Amino acid sequence: MATAESLSKDPPAADSQDSQNDNAKTKSVFRSGRFWNPWDTWSEDENIYSSGLKMLIKEKISRIPSQAILDETLPIVRPDTNQISNPPASGIRVTWIGHATVLVQFDGISILTDPIFTDRCGPTTWLGVKRYRGVPLKVDELPKIDAVVISHSHFDHLSYPTVCELNKKFGKNLHWFVPLKLGEWMKAAGCETVTELDWWEEAHIDGQPGITFAFTPTQHLSQRTAFDKFKVLWGSWVVKGPNHSFFFAGDTAYCRAFQEIGQHYGPFDVAAIPVGATEPRWFKKNRHCSVAEAVQIHQDVRAKKSLGIHWGTFKLGHEHYLSPLTEIKECMEEAGLPAEDFCTKKHGETWHIE
Ligand code: ZN
Ligand code: ZN
Repeated sequence: MATAESLSKDPPAADSQDSQNDNAKTKSVFRSGRFWNPWDTWSEDENIYSSGLKMLIKEKISRIPSQAILDETLPIVRPDTNQISNPPASGIRVTWIGHATVLVQFDGISILTDPIFTDRCGPTTWLGVKRYRGVPLKVDELPKIDAVVISHSHFDHLSYPTVCELNKKFGKNLHWFVPLKLGEWMKAAGCETVTELDWWEEAHIDGQPGITFAFTPTQHLSQRTAFDKFKVLWGSWVVKGPNHSFFFAGDTAYCRAFQEIGQHYGPFDVAAIPVGATEPRWFKKNRHCSVAEAVQIHQDVRAKKSLGIHWGTFKLGHEHYLSPLTEIKECMEEAGLPAEDFCTKKHGETWHIE
């Protein structure tokens, strides 16, 4: 079954107000009850259902090996819970929990990006893509988290059971920063302190005026059911403190947004940039960047260091599960950049950058 939305054609022409870039800050476009990608790199999706079928029939599907092999090739390390119990006295610390979930600590705060701690990403605990690498720690073992940033509503980025678990542990002291029109869903899931933002809007945690959270654009989409495609905005997050700054790219194709973000908010000490679910390109290029494009995003936003995310956890693309590791090195070399500036980490591993 195709929804009316998946069959719709080009977006309506933006009026002059929408099409004007405010000092190269591309605005979000909301028309006919949904958001549109304002990028010339976007082309309207093919029917998602026939595309999905074509992907299954025509493309060779890569296989994930046994857990014994995965224990060697993608080991899970236990985070040092003492080390991560508080933000670092200096520098910025990132701990990769898996997929797009990162614990980021600097300037006195701890934040989580797109937290998912469940076995599957999907509408129920039994339906959806199964995790092939476990979580390195449980929600119960997390240090005090001040804020969560959510990039968009896809199941691998917004997990209802994880949201409930975090609310149970932290309650109203946890500040949720979410895209425009997602606030109602968050409140219904029990989140008490929620701020929803449009692209380029900024907000703060109560009592922390020195740390700015800004929602910034991406080229992607949002969808949880057959009827809500594009109804919630998607994007990336800038978190800027007095001493350090972090950029969370979320889930995105390559587009000119990243030059704009680099211009307005760069440089960043660390950026978390997706490097997985990249293949096949004919299907993914509208919504997921290639590794070469991830390296371009690293340069566009002016990140000093980047962490590869959105790989090694849920099988959501056709590429070999380890290919991001080699591709990042090759693409950094081709770009003439030091390989150590764009890293991947083991699940649970912490990277401290002074
Ligand atoms: Zn997504
Ligand atoms: Zn994703």
